[in-house]
Amino acid sequence: MSPTRLVFPARHQGRLYGLLTAWLILLVLAPAHAREEGPLILDDAAGQPPSGHLERLNAGPGGKLTIQDVMARQKGWEPASDHVNLGLSPDHWWFRLPVRNATREPAQRLLEVGYPSLDRVDIYAVDDGEVVSSFKMGDHQPFSERPVSHRFFVAPLEWPANTTRTFYIHVHSTGPLQVPVELWTYDAFFTHSLLQQTVAALFFGAMLIMGLYNFFIFLGIRERAHGYYVLHLLTLVMFVLSVTGYGFQYFWPDAVEWNERSIGVFLTLAVVFGMLFTRDFLHLGTRHHTRLVQLGLYGLYALLILMVLAMLLAPYTLMLITVVAGANFACVAAFGAGIYTWWRGEQSARFYLLAWGALLAGGLVLAASRFSILPRNLFTENAVQIGATLLVSLLSLAMAERINEERRRRAHAQRQALDQERAARLAREEALETQRQANAMLEQRVEERTRELAEANRQLETMSLTDALTQLHNRRSFDEIMAVEYNRCYRYQHALSLIFVDIDHFKDFNDRHGHQVGDTCLQGVGRVIARSACRDADVTARYGGEEFCVLLPETDRDGAREVAERVRRNVEQERFLVGGRQEPVTVSLGVACHYPDTPEGAHQLLQEADRALYESKQNGRNQVTCTA
Ligand code: GH3
Ligand code: MG
Ligand code: MG
Repeated sequence: MSPTRLVFPARHQGRLYGLLTAWLILLVLAPAHAREEGPLILDDAAGQPPSGHLERLNAGPGGKLTIQDVMARQKGWEPASDHVNLGLSPDHWWFRLPVRNATREPAQRLLEVGYPSLDRVDIYAVDDGEVVSSFKMGDHQPFSERPVSHRFFVAPLEWPANTTRTFYIHVHSTGPLQVPVELWTYDAFFTHSLLQQTVAALFFGAMLIMGLYNFFIFLGIRERAHGYYVLHLLTLVMFVLSVTGYGFQYFWPDAVEWNERSIGVFLTLAVVFGMLFTRDFLHLGTRHHTRLVQLGLYGLYALLILMVLAMLLAPYTLMLITVVAGANFACVAAFGAGIYTWWRGEQSARFYLLAWGALLAGGLVLAASRFSILPRNLFTENAVQIGATLLVSLLSLAMAERINEERRRRAHAQRQALDQERAARLAREEALETQRQANAMLEQRVEERTRELAEANRQLETMSLTDALTQLHNRRSFDEIMAVEYNRCYRYQHALSLIFVDIDHFKDFNDRHGHQVGDTCLQGVGRVIARSACRDADVTARYGGEEFCVLLPETDRDGAREVAERVRRNVEQERFLVGGRQEPVTVSLGVACHYPDTPEGAHQLLQEADRALYESKQNGRNQVTCTA
């Protein structure tokens, strides 16, 4: 048993070594591909790695060598591991594997080159210097031309009993050159393929469901980050489809050129959407970040633009280098952004970090298995898919967490808004109450003022119509009443009489006793006159100076003369005391009477009464004169 077989004894039997153990054993037993003498002897092992029997030859960049040239070549062959990884090699490589069927039965096997994106894979079966069969494969050929319909390159081989055949494999690719060679029995191959397909179906099914589920969530919440997440998931799935060869097999079996570029296109798109998602999800685009983060973001945009340009324009190899390097860089940047955000205390960044960590770990495990640091098995081969599934699930969790956080924040804000609204309402009610009180006070004031004003007006009115000294009607009031009464008597054709009263020699009185005593006397005479004209309708007024007049509605000349006579008598008999001594005071009176035949006769009535008064004065005073 070869040392290599010791390291990977159970590669396809589902037994997984602990990673550490495998690594340690590998370190102890390296180099893993020592040359074995003679051909590989077919045995019943399910899958038979050609360890130790596989040799390789670098034919240089031209690819001019024919199978005959290569068969003739004896020098330059060197031992190859059964999982050759030549990186980005522009050269044409040939592999040689002699295999002997030592039984007496014809044998059949499938030779598999398990890396789907090789440009050219030609397999020749040579028996005794004769090419007995050949297969032209590689992803530059339409998928339908493959001898076995499989995402990897698989050639059906056969041996008659007891023969040795040497297989030559011509490999060339502008992309990474990996040549994992394997010899399968038919049964084992289909069992193994079935398992792989099942794992792939599980992966793509899970992704499809996650994609649909999150697409509907996106339709519901319409958040941009969620949209980017769905796009990232879709393009990531498409990328995995391309890388694993399923895309070529099932989706675009004839689109050879597209197949070559599809890896770069989907990887670029996945990175672009992943980064846009990262920016929105971690809120890196907002203002409150440091200048460094802003600069980093601009750098990232530049990187994404570069990747898109390379994806669209660059030749295949350059595109691949740019896109893969960009993807690695972006992955690290996303991880760094996650750490930064977590450090700033964002809860949902935990899941985010775990998610990218899972994808990174998946990538590392796959790389480690490609470089033979870890064994190739179901787990390591599907590490990226497992990482991607974890990524997608954890990001979904992260977003759920964020929706929760958002809801908590919104509920809190809502509570605050409610409190504020309540406070505002209270304040408004208070203000309204204050205003109401102020209004009431104002109304009360206005009412008071109005009352005061009305009272003042009333007083003013009274004052303007009353003589201040005697409290009788003044001249103005008298004129108004006179006009009204004259009109009324004109309308009803009733009598209206007027008496003019003038105190006799009042100038002397004033001169002898002074004005103050004169005033008191005037008051007294006024009182006497008012008392003497005692009907309700009679109006006594001070006409001016020491002159009074009495208006007697509904009173004829005789009645008026009677009243005038009463006034004269009463004044004469009144005792006006000055300094304890009685002073005689007399008045002269003039009476006039109208049955008005025109409403404008008031002035004439006054003149007549005045003339009558003048006559009384002329005739010796202290008497009544009546007009005819
Ligand atoms: P006669 O008998 O012709 O009416 O003589 P008389 O002095 O009364 O008449 P005259 O018109 O010459 O004088 C009126 C006087 O009345 C003059 C003035 O001193 C006096 N008098 C007029 N108004 C007032 C007043 O309001 N108070 C006082 N104390 N005296 C007044
Ligand atoms: Mg007079
Ligand atoms: Mg007089």
